[in-house]
Amino acid sequence: MKTTKTLVAALALALGVGTVSAEEKVLNLYSARHYQTDEALYSNFTKQTGIKINRIEAGENELLERIKNEGANSPADVLLTVDAARLAKADELGLFAPVNSKLLESRIPAHMRTKDWFAFSTRARVIVYNKATIDPADVQNYEDLANPKLKGKVCVRSGSHPYNLSLGAALIEHHGEQKTEEWVKGLVANFARAPKGGDTDQIKAVAAGECGVALTNSYYLARLMRSTKPEDQKVVEQIGLVWPNQKTTGTHVNVSGGGMLKTAPNKEAAVKFLEYLASDQAQIYFADGNNEWPVVPGVKTRNPALEKMGSFKADGINVGVLAKNQAAAQKVFDRAGWR
Ligand code: FE
Repeated sequence: MKTTKTLVAALALALGVGTVSAEEKVLNLYSARHYQTDEALYSNFTKQTGIKINRIEAGENELLERIKNEGANSPADVLLTVDAARLAKADELGLFAPVNSKLLESRIPAHMRTKDWFAFSTRARVIVYNKATIDPADVQNYEDLANPKLKGKVCVRSGSHPYNLSLGAALIEHHGEQKTEEWVKGLVANFARAPKGGDTDQIKAVAAGECGVALTNSYYLARLMRSTKPEDQKVVEQIGLVWPNQKTTGTHVNVSGGGMLKTAPNKEAAVKFLEYLASDQAQIYFADGNNEWPVVPGVKTRNPALEKMGSFKADGINVGVLAKNQAAAQKVFDRAGWR
């Protein structure tokens, strides 16, 4: 078999036939995603369109650096990444080109897109608490986490992390900078420990009783719920979930998303791919890969953990507003001492 392939390749070379024909359509995708369901997500696109996907997968910040460094010569057509803060950063660097697509406009709700990039799935920033030590009535809102009643009980990751900055951006939109700063001061005063680790570490610290309450993105909790490891199941048993701000502004929702790059060599393929991501089937793969929710209304995933978590009222703030308030959120956090 191997010999045959080598022979064919040698023959092709001898005849002057390149392995990539001029007509072969490709899409160069820079993605911060790497989930099991992504294989089907991408192969279905190729099946439907004949466009082959070349994937570069790396960390979010790494991809941004790479595109920046490659400049006008970048082969990247589409960038997929997570969090409005990071999408905003790419946008601020001028990396995205506006996409005019009636299909994207009709499929993706207006608050889930900007002129330069689109959200394709959503995640919620939720509150988890230790069932043995915390009365859930005390932790129903983000604002509650600054209540002196919770002194020494709050765990949360670094204030410089995009997930927290996007939450800060939402709070600034609702309450203004001054009130948000007061909130952060109260939150910091309630810390059980200096911020360290990721969201899963905060959940585990709550289960272990090191903290009483923590903030986490919903998919980290879903991941633990779906884990078959006995130690993860134990963690889940110790904690309760609160959808914050159900009686007021709704739970803060962040996104995974992407856009077409200004320097994209294959712009037509890029738009096709973005449109494909808004299709029912792709929405299901895209959201399910990371235990998230589809952005297109009416599309439902069958995710046992999310089903168990139930439904909630989401903050309807525009993702562009989250992006716009990033810098202000960072300043507020710095002043209030959330490192
Ligand atoms: Fe994450």
